[in-house]
Amino acid sequence: MPTNLLGLDSQGIEQLFAGLGEKPFRARQVLKWIHRRGAADFAAMTDIAKDLRAKLAAQAVIEPPAVVGDGTAADGTRKWLLKVDGANAVEAVFIPEDGRGTLCVSSQAGCTLDCEFCSTGKQGFNRNLTAAEIIGQLWIANQALGVHGHPGGVGAGNRVISNVVFMGMGEPMLNLDAVIPAARLMIDENGYGLSRRRVTVSTSGVVPGMDRLAAECPVALAVSLHAPGDALRDRLVPINRKYPIRELLAACNRYLDHAPRDFITFEYVMLDGVNDSDAQAKALLGIAARVRCKFNLIPFNPFPNSGMKRSSAERIRRFAEVLQRAGLTVTTRKTRGEGIDAACGQLAGEVADRTRRARSVPIVEVRA
Ligand code: SF4
Repeated sequence: MPTNLLGLDSQGIEQLFAGLGEKPFRARQVLKWIHRRGAADFAAMTDIAKDLRAKLAAQAVIEPPAVVGDGTAADGTRKWLLKVDGANAVEAVFIPEDGRGTLCVSSQAGCTLDCEFCSTGKQGFNRNLTAAEIIGQLWIANQALGVHGHPGGVGAGNRVISNVVFMGMGEPMLNLDAVIPAARLMIDENGYGLSRRRVTVSTSGVVPGMDRLAAECPVALAVSLHAPGDALRDRLVPINRKYPIRELLAACNRYLDHAPRDFITFEYVMLDGVNDSDAQAKALLGIAARVRCKFNLIPFNPFPNSGMKRSSAERIRRFAEVLQRAGLTVTTRKTRGEGIDAACGQLAGEVADRTRRARSVPIVEVRA
């Protein structure tokens, strides 16, 4: 089975090159060809010696997932459906905004955690994505958006994708063996060269994973909070029964020890009559007093049989006001390209043989 170089971070590719008797700088050159210039064929790597190219072609490939759908919403949000094997497809979403462009990537096909408000959780879980399948989403987006084709490739002055968030399908902390090399490639100067703070991993609160990420690759951290107390959070985010809020907040503070000038972004999905009262906003102040944080309020995207409704715009505004009056930074996520607007999840994709979910962004089938 040939090695897929797409998923190797600098350490991984240098190790592979050492095994071939090649110097580390050759590995870095190849890394640049793959990620900065979008090469999928060793023959294109014109400054690499022919015999090395032949050696690589004999035992390695550069293989992104296959694009089977590509749709753009009226607001410019673009979504790709990527087949990762015969039974599973995941989504990656590009969200252009003034002065920045954010790519939302998936880390698993489905999710084991079954948060009550999340359509991904309702699809069940099939498998972890590989590092190549995760970084492949960024690679494909750079291809599709014309960045790889630009004479400078990915780099300063040509940064269409300025931010990456792990908020697609899956719980990233349950797949760190693949998420960490992918995140390292995102911030590697020979890879995508993003600053550490522009790569955000979102978690529902898997405490051991938070500690590992802090130690190995402390990029920005978002935590799906969604409730001010354990009783409600146990219901909305069931992993809370294992890692209750007290333990979660302690893990947030340990994380910040590794990223001293950062803050935690608490994601809070606004559910009508469930977690959106003034009293619940006030209760959040107690949490904010214990962790350096800001809040991101997310209008809920209803999906079939969710049984819940989005809070009204006025309710969201007043909820935000309670937090802001206490001096907290609060953003409210704009509803964009529907189906992408929830913390860590809510993307559709296809998981094994389960029923496809309806999508609001039209996916145009692409023929291979
Ligand atoms: S919100 Fe995140 S952790 Fe929860 S079920 Fe959805 S994808 Fe999984």
